[in-house]
Amino acid sequence: MGVLTGRTALVTGASRGIGRGIAERLGRDGARVAVHYGRNETAAKDTVTAIERAGGSAFALGVELGVPGDAEALWAEFDRHADGLDILVNNAAIGNTRPIGQLEEREYDEVFAVNVKAPFFILKHGMTRLRDNGRVVNISSGLARSAAMPDNMAYAMTKGALDVFSRDLSKVLGHRGITVNSVAPGIIDTDNTAELLRGTPDGWAKAAAISALGGVGEPAEVADVVAFLVSDGGRWVTGSWVDVTGGSLT
Ligand code: NDP
Repeated sequence: MGVLTGRTALVTGASRGIGRGIAERLGRDGARVAVHYGRNETAAKDTVTAIERAGGSAFALGVELGVPGDAEALWAEFDRHADGLDILVNNAAIGNTRPIGQLEEREYDEVFAVNVKAPFFILKHGMTRLRDNGRVVNISSGLARSAAMPDNMAYAMTKGALDVFSRDLSKVLGHRGITVNSVAPGIIDTDNTAELLRGTPDGWAKAAAISALGGVGEPAEVADVVAFLVSDGGRWVTGSWVDVTGGSLT
């Protein structure tokens, strides 16, 4: 019996990386986990299998985000498997490393559509499905509060917008006991950071040097913080921005 037994969680972008780490952790804690993915069905099924092998329960749902009607499509698919939910983790996002002078309007629209518009409308259409005393966690980034990588400006702007969403939504949903928080990772070893970490011989060392702890994070390090926020122990934490950068902003 885990601390989340009896709860249902939806983690977007749970086929790989940080989302997978969060999904596996919530599954170990007893939640039934909806493992959302975009295109990578095989990876999503791997996440489901990993959760089940650890004694948990999960199902996969594939819906592309960042396109018109994405949120409604996500919930329609979710409703086929579950009747309401307790935990929503908006994790799916895309990166963008393009100096402002080279960024195309189409790319700007895409990064905002996936990283900001999709979570907003997932909540708009999901609030009625979210049970009282539920939890919302939006995965932000340390770059929302750091100018260390200005070529990632458009991406960082999406996370800044997401943080405002977390803050204000906490007031909208607070009367129902629902908490809403942003969790901001620093550099974490995922597909997303493969080029940064392994594209050059000193990539890993340079990334590690940014954090006060002198390392590169793993998905589990973010998942552990999310697990606390969605547990009963996190009930009085809302509207906050939780720094999980290993001290990269100090
Ligand atoms: P990955 O690129 O490893 O995984 C992204 C996940 O999101 C995948 O499951 C992918 O699905 C899904 N996804 C991406 N785009 C879409 C889309 N258009 N529609 C549906 N699903 C989509 O990312 P990370 O694990 O590295 O990042 C996870 C979160 O953490 C993001 O919000 C990111 O901004 C944030 N973050 C990451 C950091 C890092 O260093 N890695 C640092 C700070 C923040 P599929 O597998 O099907 O493609």
